[in-house]
Amino acid sequence: MRVHVVDHPLVAHKLTALRETTTDSPTFRRLTDELVTLLAYEATRGVRVEPHEIVTPVAPTTGVRLSAPRPLVVPILRAGLGMLDGMTRLIPTADVGFLGMIRDETTLQASTYANRMPEDLSGRQVFVLDPMLATGGTLAAAITFAFDRGAAEVVAICLLAAPEGVAAIESVFGSQTPVTVVVAALDERLNEHGYIVPGLGDAGDRLYGVV
Ligand code: URA
Repeated sequence: MRVHVVDHPLVAHKLTALRETTTDSPTFRRLTDELVTLLAYEATRGVRVEPHEIVTPVAPTTGVRLSAPRPLVVPILRAGLGMLDGMTRLIPTADVGFLGMIRDETTLQASTYANRMPEDLSGRQVFVLDPMLATGGTLAAAITFAFDRGAAEVVAICLLAAPEGVAAIESVFGSQTPVTVVVAALDERLNEHGYIVPGLGDAGDRLYGVV
């Protein structure tokens, strides 16, 4: 497993605005969208391409195009949905699968309540979208789901991660499994309620309101 913290002043600037309590939902959604596009640029560095012959107005040349099978983007409902447009803007030809996962706020255990994923992920690069890597339970379950269906590689894109969450993913998948976590910032810790500190609060509530 590899962790990549995207160290860029624009990312830090947008993340600071995102964290602020006074940032309203429409602004929070826009900033999330912009941040994900910046993170996606780094997260797709290893996306597979193949040679592609073209003819420019001046001469024939060989470029590249995304190779088959297409990348699969998987937002984890509900908060991951706020990251989908920012990701597909960068790879519009990717397929999209959906996983609905909820964390029990007492036990902090994740359970799956919705699944619309291809049965066979053989050889596919899977990009999981989950804004908050807190305890790591939800992300570990989603990554395991992808590997169980044959995924070749999983890249998780998160806005924030707690050291505890990163350690949990590392302990489940070790150093040899092709898992990469791309994150805008690694925060200090989790609090007693499983929230990231300083964090940004409940990402789902801030994106979509308290329901
Ligand atoms: N989920 C959130 O939305 N926020 C946290 O801080 C932790 C988990």
